[in-house]
Amino acid sequence: MGLFSAISAWTTARQAKFLSSMEENGTCPDCRGRGFNPYGAHEFYYANMYECPGCNGTGLFSDWSESE
Ligand SMILES: [Zn+2]
Repeated sequence: MGLFSAISAWTTARQAKFLSSMEENGTCPDCRGRGFNPYGAHEFYYANMYECPGCNGTGLFSDWSESE
């Protein structure tokens, strides 16, 4: 499980860095400011493909952080 925690810590650090850069730009980290989620690979997002569930389609970091 040591490897898993190492990867987990690495992912968390990357995620934190990513989030702070998104916050600087004022863009939603889920859709990167697009207002929709283009990936569609995950079943959960499939239904919401045209509207980002994190920011409700606004693409704004402020809306995303309120919904978190
Ligand atoms: Zn979004």
